[in-house]
Parts: sequence; C-alpha cells; structure tokens
Amino acid sequence: MMEQYLSIKNRYKDSLLFYRMGDFYELFFEDAIIASDALDIALTKRGKSNGKDIPMCGVPFHSADNYLPKLIKKGFNVAVCEQTETVEEAKLNLKKGPLKREVVRIISPGTLTEDNLLQRKNNNYLGAISIFNGSISVAWVDVSTGYFKSRLIGKENDLNQKQLLTNFMLRKDFSEILISDDMDMDYIIDEWHPILKKQSPSLFHYQSCFDQICSYYSVVSLEGIGSFSKGEIIAAGVLLSYLKLTQCGKIPFLSMIKSENINSFLEIDYFTQKSLEILKNLSGNSEGSLISSIDETKTASGARLLRQRIIEPFYDLNLIQDRYDVINWILGNNIDINNYQNCLKAIPDLERSLSRISLLRGSPRDLLLISKGLLNTKEIFENLTLDQQKNLKPKLLNSILDSLKIDYSLFLNITKALKSEVPLIAKEGGFIKDGFNAELDFFRNLRNNELNQIMKLQRKYSELTKISSLKIKHNRMLGYHVEVRTIHDQSIRNIDLFIHRQTTAQASRFTTNELVDIETQILNSFDKAIKIELEIFNNFANQILQKGKEILKIVNSISELDISFMVASQSVFRNYVCPNISNDKILEITGGRHPVVEHQMRLTQGSFISNDCKLNNKDFIWLITGPNMAGKSTFLRQNALIAIMAQAGLFVPAKKAKIGLFDKIFSRVGASDDLARGQSTFMIEMIETSLILNTSTEKSLVILDEIGRGTSTFDGLAIAWSVLEYLHEKIKPTTLFATHYHELTVLKDNLNNLSCHRMSVKEWNNSIIFMHKILDGEADKSYGIHVAKLAGIPSEVTEGAAKILSDLQNKNQTKKSYSKEVFTINLKEVENFLKEFDKIDVDDISPRQSLDFLYKLKLKRQGIGKSKFKK
Ligand code: ATP
Repeated sequence: MMEQYLSIKNRYKDSLLFYRMGDFYELFFEDAIIASDALDIALTKRGKSNGKDIPMCGVPFHSADNYLPKLIKKGFNVAVCEQTETVEEAKLNLKKGPLKREVVRIISPGTLTEDNLLQRKNNNYLGAISIFNGSISVAWVDVSTGYFKSRLIGKENDLNQKQLLTNFMLRKDFSEILISDDMDMDYIIDEWHPILKKQSPSLFHYQSCFDQICSYYSVVSLEGIGSFSKGEIIAAGVLLSYLKLTQCGKIPFLSMIKSENINSFLEIDYFTQKSLEILKNLSGNSEGSLISSIDETKTASGARLLRQRIIEPFYDLNLIQDRYDVINWILGNNIDINNYQNCLKAIPDLERSLSRISLLRGSPRDLLLISKGLLNTKEIFENLTLDQQKNLKPKLLNSILDSLKIDYSLFLNITKALKSEVPLIAKEGGFIKDGFNAELDFFRNLRNNELNQIMKLQRKYSELTKISSLKIKHNRMLGYHVEVRTIHDQSIRNIDLFIHRQTTAQASRFTTNELVDIETQILNSFDKAIKIELEIFNNFANQILQKGKEILKIVNSISELDISFMVASQSVFRNYVCPNISNDKILEITGGRHPVVEHQMRLTQGSFISNDCKLNNKDFIWLITGPNMAGKSTFLRQNALIAIMAQAGLFVPAKKAKIGLFDKIFSRVGASDDLARGQSTFMIEMIETSLILNTSTEKSLVILDEIGRGTSTFDGLAIAWSVLEYLHEKIKPTTLFATHYHELTVLKDNLNNLSCHRMSVKEWNNSIIFMHKILDGEADKSYGIHVAKLAGIPSEVTEGAAKILSDLQNKNQTKKSYSKEVFTINLKEVENFLKEFDKIDVDDISPRQSLDFLYKLKLKRQGIGKSKFKK
C-alpha cells in the first residue's frame, strides 16, 4: 500500500494527497504534518519507513466537505485519490495487493465547482499572467460558471504596466494565479504570494497554447473568435492546460473566450474601490458597501454580473444607453415588475449546475435545477413576447428575446422523467419516475417481486423449522441470510437445506440455494435498473451539454433582465432616476443622495439631506471647506458613486443627473492606513496622490479629501496647494477637493475653473448644528473645538484649546498671511543659480575659489528664500 501511495504522491508533489482508505481519506509523511496543523486534527503514525515512524492523519470520507474548504482557503491544492476498482473486479483479474487507486481530481482554490465551497454572489477566478515581448496579458476563468476572458494589460514600454496589472488583479480578487517559474517577480505584489502557483516555463510556449485553445473549441484558427495578443493566447492556453491537469483530463464547459479591451471600461483603481467602499466597507465586511445596499437582484448570476458591472463599469455611451432603454421600456409600459421578479427568483444557479455536469460531477439534482430553471425562463420569454408588443422594442431587449427563443422540449422531458425529490448522487439510482421507461419499470417490478419472494421464503422456512422467530436479514458481509437465535443452531444444522455461514453469541446465520438464487436475481435486477437510470441520466446530461452554449447565453440574458427589473423597481421604490449621459465634461447632479447612507437612514427612519453638484467644463474643480462632521466625505463619495452607478448602466439616487463619461475615477477619501506594509500614512497618501497626478486625464473624475493632512501644517498646505494648481493647470480632470486648509480658498482668485463651496452649519446656544447642505462660498471657521466638545472631550481641555486658538489667531497666524506669492518660487532666480553652478569645473577650482563660490551661493540662497516667503 505504501508503495502505491508513494508512486501516486510522486506524481502530485504540489498537492496534499487525500488517499482513500475505506471510509477515510488518509494523509502521510509531510502532507500529514501540514494538514494536521492546518486542520487542527490529531497527528498519529502508521508503520515505519527507514526505521522511522510514518506521520499520518485522516478525515472521514463523508465529512471531507467540512475539511476541504479550510485547506483550500489556506491556498493548498488537494489531490483526491479514490479507489477505482471494486473487490469483485480485483478478484476477477486475479490481482494481489491493494486495490487500484487514482487521483480523480485536484481541488485548488481557483477550480472549485461545489456550491458549499463557493460564494453564491461571487465569481471565483483562476487567472494566468503572461509576459510576451515585454507586454503583459492576463486570462481568467471561472470554472464554476464557464466565464472565460483575456485582456492585454499593457504594451511594452508602457511605464504604468505594473500599476495597471496590480489594479486589475486586485480589483478582480483572484483565488489563484498562475505564472511562469521564470517570471520577473517585480510585477508581483506581496498579497499574491499565497495564491501564486508557479508553472513550468515550457507551459508558456506560444504555439502549444494556441493549439490548446484551437483544440478546446475545435477550430483551426482563432480569427473567428476574436483578436488576441500573443500574450493573451499564452495566458489562456496555460489556463486550459492547468484545468486539464487539475480536472484529470476533463475540461469544464467554458463560454467562447472573449478578449476585452482595457479601454472599454471605466478604470477604478483598487485604492478607489476600497476608499469608496464599493464591495466592502473600510473594515473589510460587506455591510455598508455599495454592492450590499443596491444589490436587489433575484438570481445568483444576476448578482455576479452586477458585481462585475460595479467594479468595471462601461466606458461606452451606447452600451450604457442600451441598458437605460430596457429599464425605461419596463417603466414606460406598465410592465408587472413584481411578477417578473418572482419568476426570476425561481431560477437556480444554471451556470454552476452546467459546469458540474460538464465535469461529470453533476447530479440528478443539477438536471432538475437546470430544467426547472429553464422552464421558468421560457415563461419569462413568453410573457416578454406578449408585453413586447406594447411599444417600441429596445435593441437590447430584442437580442435578449432572441437568445431566449430556443427549443425547451428537452427540459420539459427531464422534468417529466425525474422525481420531484432526487438523490444527490446519480450512482445510487432511484431518481427516475415510475412509468417513464418500460424496461426500468420491468426491473423495478422484478426486484419488488423478488423482495416479496424473500418474504414468502421466510414464512416457508419458519413453518418448516417451526421456529417462529426465524428471519431473513441482509447485511454487507453476508448479503441475504437466514437468522435464528443460537439455541436453534443445532436443529437447523440438522436440516440439509441450510448451509451454515456464521455463529455469534446471539445468532446463527445460514443460507440456502434458493436464497442465493433470489439474491442474485435481486442484485441483477437492481444493477440493471441502476444501469438504465444512469443511461437516462447520461443521455440527458449530454443533451444539456450540447445546448451548453445556448444555456450560457440565456444565463447572460437572464442576468441582464434581472438587473433591469431591479433598477426599474429602484426607480419606483427608491426614487432613483435615469441619468442623462453624454461625452461632455459634466457632472451635474441635482438633489443627489448617497446610496448607502440614504439606504441605512431609511432603515432607521432618518432622512438624508440631498445636495447638488454642478461640475462642468467651466467650473471643473470644486474646493469644499467645512467643519468636521459636516458631511464633506459623504458628499464627495456620493458623487463618485453616482458616476459609477450611471456608467454601470444603473439609475442613480438623485432628482436629475447629467453625467459625462469618465475614463477613470480616483478617490482618496478617509484614511487608508497601511501600516502593516511598513509604510506611514503620509507616505501612502503621497504614493496614492502621485498615482493620480501621473495617470489621471482630462476625462477623469478625481475626488480628494484632506490631501496633506498627514504632515506638518505648512508642508501639508503647500502640497495641497500645489496639487490643486497642477490639477487645474496641467491635467484638468473634473475634481472635488475637500480640505481643512481654509487658506486654499484664495486660489479661486487665480484659478478660473475652480470655485469654492462649503458645508453649512448653524451656531446655536454655543453649540453647532450640522445642516449637511452644500452652499456656495467658503467656510469662515473650522469649528474643530465645537466638534471636540460634541465628542465629549472634557470642557477644561476644550476651553484651553479655545484660548490657544485665539492667541494663535492674534499672532496673525491667519489665512491673510498666505497669499498666492507665498508659494511662488522665483523660477528665474533658480535657473540662474543652476547655470552658474553648471559653469564650475570641479577638477579645476582652487580651495579659495570654491569657498568664495560657496559664500556667493549662500547669499543667493537667502535671496531666493526671501522672495519665496515675501508677503
Ligand atoms: P470629517 O471631516 O470629520 O471626516 P466630514 O465633513 O467628512 O467629517 P462626514 O463623515 O461626511 O463628515 O459626515 C458626518 C456624519 O454626517 C455621518 O454620520 C453622515 O452619516 C452624516 N451625514 C453626512 N451627510 C449627510 C446628509 N447629506 N444627510 C444626512 N446625514 C448626513
């Protein structure tokens, strides 16, 4: 057995080998040590190797599902090794030694298909990165849904390649990433190390990857599929090879691979995704995130599509408008939203059932789910076709209807064939209804008759032996047998008919030739019935797979419809409106609300104060001041979220919204502490700001909150000032900039496209009331001490602070002391200074001359310094 174990383990060195022994999966040697630690189970020993104990641990076969997720979550691959021959087969082959065992599957974090190991509303992505001729490409696949895409991330010489790769990979939240063993690790960030699976560089060979894809899709060229960079082909081919390896030759049903253009999406970098709390709140949980408050989809695939949309919204007017048209059609034609949503609710996770069926892991339940789900789809199709006659048909709705127009008879047949309650494993049979297949009925009846015969036989033997307690029983060891209490042992042995099999303290067991015959017949008819059921099952499964492409298209259409009905309902129940979307430079939102804060306040009966935002070509930077707690961050975030929702094809929480397409959104709101990575808050802030200054464009939306807060007041103010000037003069993105530095508001005099706004507060009874309303103009004071009072800081401290503040103000540390010139460096003088410096030949200068020069420089330096800080 150990020999067999070692030879299998040798082939699966990178995985923990779950070696099936009876009712247990057992692990040995290093695997046992790792698994017992990771699973917190006992480490024992079994036998010896080279005189040393062999470490061993095991988990019961039937509860493996409880242990596997723990190992997978920790990033391990698990190779499941099953017994692949029965005792009978081994006997027939006159084989000695352990039964044949084979690895039937490698479970890895990126190749899961089981519902209990997956999150219903999340995709589970396996990705591969390839670098070909200096360009980076990525391909990614969700084995559980058949989703397969690729993208050229950055071309050779593109300085942002690493950043683009990092953003993309973090945004998609991969479960497992494949890279070549010789890949430049500079591209890899620390977070990915636990999920990296390094592969042999030979796997990244262009031609073999190309062939892999062609053979999977049974095509001779990829031209008909789309246009791919060589890197994308390599990454996609590597994924297919890895799937073949981990699924032991079977590859799941995948949609046609699609190459995506990075420029087709609104780019939301990872910092922004985090700062706007799109998928998770700042503490990493989902409540309070954008997705958790807007996701009212009814299907799992709809929820997954919504997530994709929200992290990568469209950057294409037509695609967005198409979505709006469907939603407006629903709203404009009095379509019964509730009725459709009820129908959608009854559609199970078709993609995941299809994937399991394609990997031969499907169950009768999957057949039933797919069939019932698709019959619901048929109902939606018929209702929409009727409703569609009402008015002009939007383009997207037409293509949705086209994809739903398929022959549903197979699914009707399946529901006719299968019982309403079906077992989870096909091998056990018992899932086909009586009356569906005559041959199956015949063997089932035969079996029932044979069971009756056993009952008759029991009566006969009981009368013959005059032992009323005689029973015919069944167990795994003996099969059917006659059982009497031990006191009757001798009297039964005296009758020739009975053949002794076993005696225990309580019972004696016998068999008879008649009984053996009936048992053989029962087993035969049972086997035959199961065989017929399996044939029916496989036949249905194959027919479903032949329709796989159509089914995936239907799923996509259903997900689109699900989101459309969700938005239509939000338009009615949440007063969300359809934005007017264009290519202009504009973000004009009237009566805008924060989707998450408003939703939470609605639950607690609070009322959210709406606010306007009017950014456009003329006025593209809003500088917002106001005390803490006044609602600056909320205002900033709500406008970014509204832009994202609009480009995701959703309606938005506002009275009216005019939104020009943004190519990128950057948001730095709230502290993004990353001390764990060994960088200070200020350093992180500066890295993030530099990313914005280096990569934003005139078409971007930039949301900045309290830039420069992490350093000394003067440094912070100077940086914030300079950043604002740079954005205004050089990049010109649409910008919302909140600050505590009231001194910055003087910039409005020099920067034509910048205007000042403030969050209003009212002073009342020596306290302040936050109005949460944005008004034109700048805040006159900070109210920080009032807020400190509200927070319960002892009055002794706040009164002391008030006094210090008044002293400082008297010492003229007020905003008057900073004019624009304060930060204007006399560039001419700096230039002259450098020119003189360049003239010096360091090898040809005496100590005296250099000393003179230093004095001269010192004088000039003081001159520049004076001009820099002159009033
Ligand atoms: P700080 O400068 O201290 O970060 P801030 O000005 O950014 O404060 P926010 O964090 O946006 O203030 O808001 C403070 C509180 O006010 C939050 O609890 C928020 O829920 C509430 N709030 C903000 N805006 C509104 C609004 N428009 N209507 C109702 N409540 C609001």
